[in-house]
Amino acid sequence: MRYAPALSALTIMDGELQPLSRLPEDWERALARHGGPRYRARQVFRWIWARGVTDPDRMSDLPKTLRSALAGSVPALAPPATVVHTHRSLDGSKKLVLGLADGAEIETVLLPVARGTETLDADAAAADDDGDDEDGASADARADARADARPGPTRRVTQCVSTQVGCAMACTFCASGLAGLRRHLDASEIAGQVLLGRAACGPDEVLRSVVFMGMGEPLHNYAGTARAIRLLSHPEGLAIPLRRITVSTSGLVPEIAELGRDFGGAVGLAVSLHQADDAKRSALMPVNRRYGLAELARALAAYPLPPRRRITIEYTLLAGENDAPEDARALLRFLRPLRAKVNLIPMNRITGSTLGPPDPARVLAFQRLVTDAGIGCFVRRRRGDDVAAACGQLALDPTRSAPRRASARRARDA
Ligand code: SAH
Repeated sequence: MRYAPALSALTIMDGELQPLSRLPEDWERALARHGGPRYRARQVFRWIWARGVTDPDRMSDLPKTLRSALAGSVPALAPPATVVHTHRSLDGSKKLVLGLADGAEIETVLLPVARGTETLDADAAAADDDGDDEDGASADARADARADARPGPTRRVTQCVSTQVGCAMACTFCASGLAGLRRHLDASEIAGQVLLGRAACGPDEVLRSVVFMGMGEPLHNYAGTARAIRLLSHPEGLAIPLRRITVSTSGLVPEIAELGRDFGGAVGLAVSLHQADDAKRSALMPVNRRYGLAELARALAAYPLPPRRRITIEYTLLAGENDAPEDARALLRFLRPLRAKVNLIPMNRITGSTLGPPDPARVLAFQRLVTDAGIGCFVRRRRGDDVAAACGQLALDPTRSAPRRASARRARDA
């Protein structure tokens, strides 16, 4: 079928949705006015999300009229971000600093896991339940085992993505929180990090799972997060299975329920708990004043987890704050009604906070108390801290952005 020659570029517009935020059905609507066959929508989506091509001139199987319409579309069909810096950590992880269209900068981290060591690696355990949970006998795990036996990529990569520029949650131990919120990312900016991450993988690496654990609170930006999950998991695009996508939240109860409803529990859920005593948690994490522990526990119990999957409880160990045996016992009481495993993260130091990690013996003692109660508990390996890419270290750059000035002010006033 031919496109009308008089076709105007501007008619590609589709409300407020950025072209890169469109799912195939949105592309169908956007292209409908052009009268072409419906499969063009899927073709365009595939160019972008399966092949990583956003330049319409390179979409070689599209008719020329459609390519020029796409080229002139408003808003423009352009990469959602550019890589400003790549910091390589000695441990193999990479931090990409990305520049967005409005000049804001965000960060995303690639965490490679050597094959065969996944189950030993707590980062992988958080991100990739195939090796950690009891669903190892699934057809999927068997397919992975077959793939492992063949020559090919040797390292699986988990990518950690940001969902906001800054963060509004103001957790006292987190650099992103100290910076305050500048804005939400839209779905194309969130999922686009994975396009750039995949392109930054080495020839021996394969991007396998995505964790929403970078800068920002994903569930505070629920619309952007949910659409990004749809973009990433769409079978015509990057096709990352929902079970290999994990969303981490500081505990926004209504949105936990929404995520469970929208994806039927298939998306992995991680919760940053850090303290199982209400008063102490409220002091660390202001969100606890809004949604206390009892309410949070109810939301977690109601999350429609598939059989054999567990919720990940993240617990950043802060010396003298939450690392005592009584804190571990409070944690165990919180966990009793839940299907959950625990990821301990010895705190990574950040500027602007005097909090720090406990010594290793205390970390192990805490872990022992949890595992002795029969609950899976891993200590997350520190990754990327030599390039400020470790948990809680993703911050706005003080020399470039306004919010950091606000944070500096806050730190000074504190
Ligand atoms: N806002 C979401 C997503 C961020 S995930 C959430 O809170 O879950 C980042 C994880 O690193 C969270 O568990 C967070 O609590 C933890 N974290 C933050 N600052 C840290 C630090 N300085 N050291 C170690 N972990 C930290």
